[in-house]
Amino acid sequence: MPLALVSTYQTFQLMSFKQIAVIGAGTMGNGIAHVFAQSGFTVKLIDVNGAQLEKALQTIGKNLDRQVSKGALSEGQKSIALANITTHTDLAVGVQNADLVVEAATENTDLKLKIFRSLDEAAPANTILATNTSSISITKIAAATKRPNKVIGMHFMNPVPVMKLVEIINGYATDKAVTDAIVAMSTQLGKVPCVVNDYPGFIANRILMPMINEAIYSLYEGVAGVEAIDTVMKLGMAHPMGPLQLADFIGLDVCLSILNVLHDGFGNPKYAPCPLLVNMVTAGYLGVKSGEGFYQHTAGSKDLVVSERFR
Ligand code: NAD
Repeated sequence: MPLALVSTYQTFQLMSFKQIAVIGAGTMGNGIAHVFAQSGFTVKLIDVNGAQLEKALQTIGKNLDRQVSKGALSEGQKSIALANITTHTDLAVGVQNADLVVEAATENTDLKLKIFRSLDEAAPANTILATNTSSISITKIAAATKRPNKVIGMHFMNPVPVMKLVEIINGYATDKAVTDAIVAMSTQLGKVPCVVNDYPGFIANRILMPMINEAIYSLYEGVAGVEAIDTVMKLGMAHPMGPLQLADFIGLDVCLSILNVLHDGFGNPKYAPCPLLVNMVTAGYLGVKSGEGFYQHTAGSKDLVVSERFR
């Protein structure tokens, strides 16, 4: 078969996605499951923690309700989206018929390598394995599998149902047909894909995390308080959210992991995480997900209340 035809054939094969498996039902996993289900795909949402799966289904339900109340979705579309999602604690069962797997488990290199080894064994040979990692090398994750050409970064932004960007990261060995298929899939989800190459932090976090770290250093050194730092960036730079509020929203543990990846990957001290961030993560003050970070986060309240520690 001529090369051009082989490539078209592969692209066609890769494009016929029906069933999606999402690994990890935390902040990102529930949003990723939501957008795929809303776009008509069958979604298997998988987590080691059964309680987290329950919580994810509740969050997806609430977020779909919000879309209905805004007139963006009908009650019927909401019911179909919810019916498209099933939950699983067994990875092998959840991915056995998947056309595409999107991994959104905890940001930890060893964990992701372990998950990708299992995925490689359990998922059909043609299945594309995507990771939502914020910063871990796609090439390294791909090398843990026997199909590095079918491994790619599919980096959604938080909150997934709202944010338009998908940063698509080519690993060293990713096939062009795979990239093309994921670009097309992202567009089908109503997102805007941007393709980048695999270097620490890719583009989004290589630029965002040093800014967040610098904001935390400014607080740590007493240059200004939480509100002042965030207000300067909101009003002065037209950012919709200040960097400390954004860090709480992303999760301080996630921010710390990404800074460690940048620091290790580039070997440049400018990426060293601020000791205050390290302390907060060690003590379990992780932002929205734990209820307190730079701000206090009460379920159901939208008020921005600075944590007592920083008043
Ligand atoms: P999270 O801590 O909210 O959720 C992680 C989930 O993974 C948890 O529910 C945990 O039980 C589950 N998990 C852990 N080990 C597992 C395993 N072996 N199998 C299945 N599930 C497992 O984390 P998050 O914020 O949703 O981040 C997930 C991924 O998305 C990370 O790679 C992170 O870097 C990336 N990301 C996060 C954000 C953000 O704003 N939080 C943005 C973009 C990308």
